[in-house]
Amino acid sequence: MRTAAPLTALAVLALAACSQSSTDASPTASAPGASSPPAVDFVAPELSTVDPTIIAGLDVQVDESLAEGHYTYEAVPVLPNAQDFTAIMREYIAPRLDRFREIEQSADGDTRPELTISWDIVAASPQVWGVRLTSAEVGGDAFDGDAETVWIDVAAREQRWVTDLFEPDALPELVSRIYDAGVSDPRMDQQLFNEQMDGELEAFDSVAFTTEGQLWVEFDRAQVSTSTTPIGVEVDPDGLLSDFGKLALEAALSPSDPAVPAIPQPSPSPVESTSAPASERQTQELEGDTDCGVEKCIALTFDDGPVAATNDLLDVLQDRGVKATFFMVGKNATANPAVVKRIAEDGHALGNHTWDHPQLTRLSASEVRKEIERTSDAIEAAAGVRPTLLRPPYGATNGTVADVAAELGMPQILWDVDPEDWKDKNSDTVRERVLGNAHRNAIVLSHDIHSTTRNAYAAIIDSLISDGYTLVTVPDLLDDLEPGKKYFNGK
Ligand code: ZN
Repeated sequence: MRTAAPLTALAVLALAACSQSSTDASPTASAPGASSPPAVDFVAPELSTVDPTIIAGLDVQVDESLAEGHYTYEAVPVLPNAQDFTAIMREYIAPRLDRFREIEQSADGDTRPELTISWDIVAASPQVWGVRLTSAEVGGDAFDGDAETVWIDVAAREQRWVTDLFEPDALPELVSRIYDAGVSDPRMDQQLFNEQMDGELEAFDSVAFTTEGQLWVEFDRAQVSTSTTPIGVEVDPDGLLSDFGKLALEAALSPSDPAVPAIPQPSPSPVESTSAPASERQTQELEGDTDCGVEKCIALTFDDGPVAATNDLLDVLQDRGVKATFFMVGKNATANPAVVKRIAEDGHALGNHTWDHPQLTRLSASEVRKEIERTSDAIEAAAGVRPTLLRPPYGATNGTVADVAAELGMPQILWDVDPEDWKDKNSDTVRERVLGNAHRNAIVLSHDIHSTTRNAYAAIIDSLISDGYTLVTVPDLLDDLEPGKKYFNGK
């Protein structure tokens, strides 16, 4: 039985602090038995997270790729006037994306290798900005996933390392407390845990706080056990925190808007944070008067937002008096509730594109349901109405997804015109492909997260109108939508 040796432990922590963006695969990344589907929800229940709606002008930066053989989706939060903070997070993400794209390829099979990078705000104040980034990777029989909490000193506009949360001379005591918490934790594989405490450098990449003000020290998936979910241990921070650590704790428990100074930002409209009981829920009714049996209809659809710049696209639609359908990611809806509200108020159809964009075909029915319901809750909280349409991420669906969609009363809306705007981020290319493939009753897929797509649509819409098209929402295009059923167009 070993005990934590303070000097060794101090060296471990110091090294851990320097290993923020390691591109190396963890040696335990493909632990035996880790090939079963992981739980998608990375959020530990005890973790203290910040309601994104308290931050005026918060946005998300989103990207998605459906490249040959694998899928990626990533999102990070963006504070107004703080693109430099976003750049720090991109530094964390970039090597993970590069490695995944290089390694994970599978030409066929229903379930493709997939990397999803998501976020939680764990502290926010004018002094401290803390964001926990998680990456979940599923590919072939390889599997990896981890969490890292990025701490930023807002006033100094600098990243702080995990060690900066603590008084330097308290680090040995910290390691000792982590050891004590882990060694008595039945979820830990004691051999892996001991190896971890002995010198693995990524052990303490994710340190945040629980709702009770305890430290929440997280170990990556498969790092300290054969479990496919990350394990966090609670550690008493009493006497350990540095001045910055104390500010971080306060920003976790009593968060406030960091309000990074520069351009004044408008406050988002306050939104109801809880959804109405099912019996009182308002679902969106959008079937209009257009008769697509008579008129030459086409439905434009936009996925993966909302982002703040979705407003630019909404302006284009509004100027031309046309309606579209927006399939929103739940998590992004929580960052941009005012945009969700506007989408509904402008008369566009609301669609559900899941909470954090996983490939639903690898999830259980209950996980699929959670992805969908949580998203509908977020959209309803922002817009006052509940979406009735589902678009599975990547268009990946199966019988389980269809069954859950049917239970929830939602048809699955796919598409038959795809300009591949995620691949060629060029407005001319997007325009040419949409117009070149447009046809009567088509459902057109695009992504409002890309400026190149948003900028293409004024010309696209003008051309479609002059070609005699009537632009409609999906419920307008498709009468009598059947829950669970797949629709590719309005034929
Ligand atoms: Zn998508």
